[in-house]
Amino acid sequence: LVSVQGVNKYFGELHVLRDIDLDIARGEVVVVIGPSGSGKSTLCRAINRLEPIENGEIRIDGVPLPAEGKELARLRADVGMVFQSFNLFAHKTILQNVTLGPTKVRKESADAARKHAMELLERVGIASQADKYPAQLSGGQQQRVAIARALAMRPKVMLFDEPTSALDPEMVNEVLDVMTSLAKDGMTMVVVTHEMGFARRAADRVVFMADGQIVEAAEPDTFFTKPTSDRAKDFLSKIL
Ligand code: ATP
Ligand code: MG
Repeated sequence: LVSVQGVNKYFGELHVLRDIDLDIARGEVVVVIGPSGSGKSTLCRAINRLEPIENGEIRIDGVPLPAEGKELARLRADVGMVFQSFNLFAHKTILQNVTLGPTKVRKESADAARKHAMELLERVGIASQADKYPAQLSGGQQQRVAIARALAMRPKVMLFDEPTSALDPEMVNEVLDVMTSLAKDGMTMVVVTHEMGFARRAADRVVFMADGQIVEAAEPDTFFTKPTSDRAKDFLSKIL
């Protein structure tokens, strides 16, 4: 569903993505881990073309991501993104936050968008808060709204970049539970996270990045019990 082939990216002199090849199958959950600065966020942003790449190709469902224009906006709608900071619209209600994209970008009718939004809010356990404003919700609740908002665009793949790292510890699990249930329902997902419990539980594949390269990729069981590279062994010894 997502194909990343020979992708390189520089920030000035800094070579942040080096020959990245990554194919993600429909329904697959890929957890990306690695030290700070290894290029995990840049890879996510490249998949969404929030970040231009120097060479290589990224395809979503077989279609190469164009550099810009209408076509890019259409393909980008296929890729939902959830960041560390939830970025909800502060002056819109929870319901409006979720219906805005579908009505404006996808031209859904207000009724259809509202119905779908309420289903999604139900799914993330926030339906009863639909008429509140973001500031009235906890961080964990806001992040669940951000997930519902991304899902409202009916994406083919969801990218999560450290979705729980800005949350108070007691709110981490409510967000991870929503993500785990999405994974079980067959959503194709790329998740950058430091939550190794989630990786073990929900990932089909763990991709370990260091210095802009994919150093190792394996099923979670294999990766966590028998990492092969020294970089991965060293990383795991520090976090587990
Ligand atoms: P973290 O775990 O800290 O989030 P990361 O693996 O997500 O790290 P990236 O944010 O992808 O790492 O950054 C990769 C490298 O690119 C880092 O060295 C970072 O300093 C650099 N970098 C990221 N964004 C920019 C930018 N806009 N301009 C210049 N350098 C950047
Ligand atoms: Mg990052």
